[in-house]
Amino acid sequence: MEIFNYDAEIAFSSAAPGYWAKQQIPEFEWNDHHWQLKNRIRSLAQIEAHLNLIEAERAGILLTGTKLASAVTPHYFNLIESGNPDCPVRRQIIPRIEETFDDPREMTDPCGEDSHMPVPGLVHRYPDRVLFLVTDRCASYCRYCTRSRVVSGVGDQHLETQWEAAFDYLENAPQVRDVLLSGGDPLLLSDNRLDKILSRLRSIKHIQFVRIGSRIPIFLPQRITPELCEILHKYHPLFLSIHANHPRELTSEVRDGLARLADAGIPLGNQSVLLKGVNDSVEVQRALVHKLLLCRVKPYYLYQCDLIKGSAHLRTPIRTGLEIIEGLRGHTTGYGIPQFVIDAPGGGGKIPLNPDYVIRSDDHETLLRNYEGKEFLYPEAQDLKPLIL
Ligand code: SF4
Repeated sequence: MEIFNYDAEIAFSSAAPGYWAKQQIPEFEWNDHHWQLKNRIRSLAQIEAHLNLIEAERAGILLTGTKLASAVTPHYFNLIESGNPDCPVRRQIIPRIEETFDDPREMTDPCGEDSHMPVPGLVHRYPDRVLFLVTDRCASYCRYCTRSRVVSGVGDQHLETQWEAAFDYLENAPQVRDVLLSGGDPLLLSDNRLDKILSRLRSIKHIQFVRIGSRIPIFLPQRITPELCEILHKYHPLFLSIHANHPRELTSEVRDGLARLADAGIPLGNQSVLLKGVNDSVEVQRALVHKLLLCRVKPYYLYQCDLIKGSAHLRTPIRTGLEIIEGLRGHTTGYGIPQFVIDAPGGGGKIPLNPDYVIRSDDHETLLRNYEGKEFLYPEAQDLKPLIL
């Protein structure tokens, strides 16, 4: 078993030039997000040119292409260990044959989004907030994507966001105060397009703030340009949730991109997905949250992997997540501890999951345990009388 090296994982190293060193890509091209997107690694031949594939991966690359496209930016591909099929970066991004395995309990729409769409592309499940699906494309495709039914354009369903109807709906829904832009990856839209969408949303008086969910800072940090940050800065309060699952994803390029966003005043949170063989241990999660804090990102949610079709090989038991939270709470700074949540299968929304620190409780007292297992009694307030009447 591989020994986890905290010091090595917490260090910021550069993802460039990695596999591309010998091809001598000029630095200005490597640092250009257009070049990164144009040179994404997609085909079996391209992947095989760099990685020693195992049979499960080779078959997966050939067979999963009609479910969710395969594409990886050179930046992210550089993080993959060539000779290690258990590499935590590789498990997230290289298809495996297990994606085609069928479990009838798994779903194509595990969060029940389609049944909560008043307008195509707009999910309104919670009273005061909506999810706005603004694109179906991403810089790279995560093999456990909860929205793989519409993301990447090769599946059975297609995202057909009705822009004008969605804005009309929002204008006439005064209870909506919070709009989350997602997809796909909103930061893949051009600066001009993003500017227009944010400006239109900001013109609706009852929308108090906008959030963006994006994995671009991890897959394509070159996209976090000063120009993009300037646009986002115009629309405060604007929050950004990134998606990092392993400390190795936080390279020096990612750290610098996140610094540009933080310097533009954008509060940053991380939503990570608990994945078997990727981040299902306390030590990996501890290094991840420490490194996120170094990047000025608050670990926000740790998601139990959704019941998406073909994800069984990446899903962990729920108790693994509870053990991880227990291993973090009290053992590291509270600011670094994400909320472990499960999106209720079929569409019940997020349910928080926490280790139980209450041993017993009645009207008089509550017996608690701390992170070391020591017990403490907390008495409830009682009706007291003055000492002297
Ligand atoms: S970046 Fe998000 S939307 Fe895109 S494939 Fe990954 S999880 Fe799915």
